Amino acid sequence: MMLARFALLFVVLITAACAMGAAVVPEEVVPHFGRLIVRGALLAGAGSPVDVEVLDGWIVAVGPSIDPKGAEVVDATGQWIAPAFIDSHVHMEYYPMVSEMAGGGGAAVVDHAAPVVFFERDWAPLQVLGSGPMVTAVGGYPTQGWGAGGYGREVVGGNEAAEAVRELRDLGAGLIKLPVTTGSQLQDDAMEAAVAQAHAVGLKVSTHAMGNDHAQRAADVGCDLLAHTPTSALNDEAIEAWAGRAVISSLRAFGGGAAAVANLEALRGRGATVLYGTDFGNTRTPGIDRLELTYLMEAGFSGAAILEAGTAAPVAFWGFDDLGAIEPGKRASFLLLDRDPLQDPLVLSEPAAVFIDGNRR
Ligand SMILES: [Zn+2]
Repeated sequence: MMLARFALLFVVLITAACAMGAAVVPEEVVPHFGRLIVRGALLAGAGSPVDVEVLDGWIVAVGPSIDPKGAEVVDATGQWIAPAFIDSHVHMEYYPMVSEMAGGGGAAVVDHAAPVVFFERDWAPLQVLGSGPMVTAVGGYPTQGWGAGGYGREVVGGNEAAEAVRELRDLGAGLIKLPVTTGSQLQDDAMEAAVAQAHAVGLKVSTHAMGNDHAQRAADVGCDLLAHTPTSALNDEAIEAWAGRAVISSLRAFGGGAAAVANLEALRGRGATVLYGTDFGNTRTPGIDRLELTYLMEAGFSGAAILEAGTAAPVAFWGFDDLGAIEPGKRASFLLLDRDPLQDPLVLSEPAAVFIDGNRR
């Protein structure tokens, strides 16, 4: 009885604490309660070491020589500190390695197709956004292959497409996904209706579009985000159409390839926002994926650009406002690294330590 009361009080406290956080934080996240000092770590690009003060899972101060009295101290002398990553393309329902994803340096993920049961699951300690099923034609991608069993929501015409978007939003969708590929397809007007409805309720629209014509059509109907870097060469018109929009790297999932690497370079060169993403679930490396980083470097990304694609850029794009930087007001979700990630970005895939919400993973 005592235990039950104590457990109830604990749940109430956690719920109250989490109510103050961003909307995308699952209620079940349990921050590290208490005071923690990470001592003497180097911020990427900064000259001298700092202390990072964490209170109840949040960063409350960053500066030289913070008084460690009464705090748990983590000595990070000689190490670098960087924000934990956001993987903007995963399929957690396919391969629900939550603990491994967090332990490998992932603080948040964006799920790009799952049955609606996705919205009922506890993904803590990860912050998640999910599309639920892709909105697709009857018999369309991905319902006839890997996505049989609820990964696609089949609709006919614009009214049904818009209705599906409203339903998904009510279930908890944080984005909408539309495939533009071969096989059964929605007509342009149905896709435009889905996009208009998504935008009306504040959701971005991601598209699976791998070739030039598909990418062009996805841009023409108003999609916001390429879920993968297209794997066949994009022409100038398609690059231009995506110039002010966004693309998830996802190079590793298709083995890199000269065309994809060139597409990503060209999209970025024309001002498209690039988000780090691995298609985890279809790929099987939880945490920050060394192979994805390698392909990003091949596409001309510096350490700073890779860090941005995994932290600040997805924060700005998706609204994970309490992640993505080492500064007061952010969650204490960070990596300790043995080398400078600006000089050697591959070190991000082998963190010496990972903290999510102040908890060492
Ligand atoms: Zn995917």
